[in-house]
Amino acid sequence: MPSERPTFSPYLPGDPHDQDPELFAILDRELERQNTTLQLIASENFASRAVIAATGSVLTNKYSEGYPGKRYYGGNLVIDEVEDLARRRVCELFGAAHANVQPHSGANANLAAYLAVLEAGDTVLGMRLDQGGHLTHGSPVNISGRIYNFVAYGVTESDERLDYDQLAAAAEAHRPKLIVAGATAYPRVIDPEPIRRIADEVGALFMFDAAHVAGLIAGGVHPSPVGVADIVTFTTHKTLRGPRGGCILTDREDLAKAIDKAVFPGLQGGPLEHVIAAKAVAFREAAQPEFKDYAAQIVRNARALASGLADEGFRIVSGGTDNHLMLVDLRPFDAELTGKVAQEALDRSGITLNKNTVPNDPRSPFVTSGLRIGTPAVTTTGMREPEMTEIAALIARVLRRPDDSAESAAVRDEVAVLCSKYTPYP
Ligand SMILES: *Cc1c(COP(=O)(O)O)cnc(C)c1O
Repeated sequence: MPSERPTFSPYLPGDPHDQDPELFAILDRELERQNTTLQLIASENFASRAVIAATGSVLTNKYSEGYPGKRYYGGNLVIDEVEDLARRRVCELFGAAHANVQPHSGANANLAAYLAVLEAGDTVLGMRLDQGGHLTHGSPVNISGRIYNFVAYGVTESDERLDYDQLAAAAEAHRPKLIVAGATAYPRVIDPEPIRRIADEVGALFMFDAAHVAGLIAGGVHPSPVGVADIVTFTTHKTLRGPRGGCILTDREDLAKAIDKAVFPGLQGGPLEHVIAAKAVAFREAAQPEFKDYAAQIVRNARALASGLADEGFRIVSGGTDNHLMLVDLRPFDAELTGKVAQEALDRSGITLNKNTVPNDPRSPFVTSGLRIGTPAVTTTGMREPEMTEIAALIARVLRRPDDSAESAAVRDEVAVLCSKYTPYP
C-alpha cells in the first residue's frame, strides 16, 4: 500500500489547475489570447508542443553547474546526455565546431561573448540602436554600453541599407577590438563577408549576433556567418522557434574555451537544463527538410505583407524586405499618426505588433513614427500570402480610424475568424 504523502508536498496527483486555480486561470487566458489574436511581433514565434513539453519537464529540478563530464555536483549523467545532444545537434545544424547552449537568453549570450574577448574600456563597433541595433550592442542603459566603448555605425540615407563603407571608415578611425554585426529591427540581409574583410583589415574580432535570423540561416534562406565570423550568438526562440534562450557558436578552439569560462562561471550559475533539452528539440526540428520550407515561407509572407501595406499607402523602410520583418513608416499614410498610437489601436483590434523608430526618426523611441511587423509566428500557424494581404487591409482599416472603437471591435471579430482557421494550439 502506498504511503500517504505529507500535506506539505505539492506533488499531488491531478490537474495543476486544481492546485493553483488563480495562476492557471491566467495561463488559460494567455493561451486564449495567443490562439485568437494575430501575433506579428518579429521576435516571437509559436514553439512546438515537444519544445513546450521539454521546457516543462523535471529537468528544471537539477543543478548542473559546469559542462558535460565536468560538473560540480553529482547526479548529472542523464543531464550530460541532454546537453551533449543539444550541442551536437546545433553544431550539425550550423556546421560549427563548438557550441555553448547554456546562455539563458540572447542578451546573456552577447554578454558572455564580450566577457570572453574584451576588457573593460575596449572599443567595439555595433549598429546604431535607432537604426536596428540591439540594446546589448552598446546602449548607454545596458551594461554593454557602460563597460565597453561602443561606437555606432548605421544605414545609408539613400537606400536605408547597412552602410558597409561607413562601417569600414569607423573601423579605420576607431581600431576596435571587436566588430558586432546583427540587428533587431533591420529588414535586409546582413552579409558577413564584407564585415569579415573590414575586421581583418583593422585586426578586429568579428561577432555576428544572429538572434533574429538564426532560423532563416538554419533554413538556408540567409547567408551563414558560421565559419566567417569568429563568434556567432543567437536566440533560440525567434525565427528558430525553440524555447526562450541563447546560444554561442565558434570554430576557434581558443575562443571556445574562453566562451565556456565566460558563460560559467563568468556570467551565469546553474544552467536551465529543461530549456537546454527544449533547445535540443528545436535544433532537431530546424534540421528537418520542412524547416527549409518554413523559412522560405516566412520571407514570402513578409514580402506579401510589405507589398500589401505599401498598396495601402504606407512607406516600407528600404523599399521592402529580405527577411522575416518589415519596418513601416507611418508618416506618408498619416503624418500625425505615431507608432505608439498605432500599436495601441491595433492591440485593441487583436493585432499585436510593436512601435519602432524608422531611420532618422524625428520622434522619440517611446513615440516613434513607425511599426515593426514580423511573420515568423503567423507563418508557423500555416498562413500564406493571401492571409498577409488580408492582414495588411485589416491594419490599414484600424489605422485609418485609430480612435474608432466600433471599427476596432469589428476588426477584432474578423481577426478572430482568421485565427480560428490558423490556431497555433487548438
Ligand atoms: C532579441 C535580441 C537579443 C536578446 O535576446 P533576449 O533573449 O531577449 O535577451 C540580442 N540581440 C539581438 C540582435 C536581438 O534581436
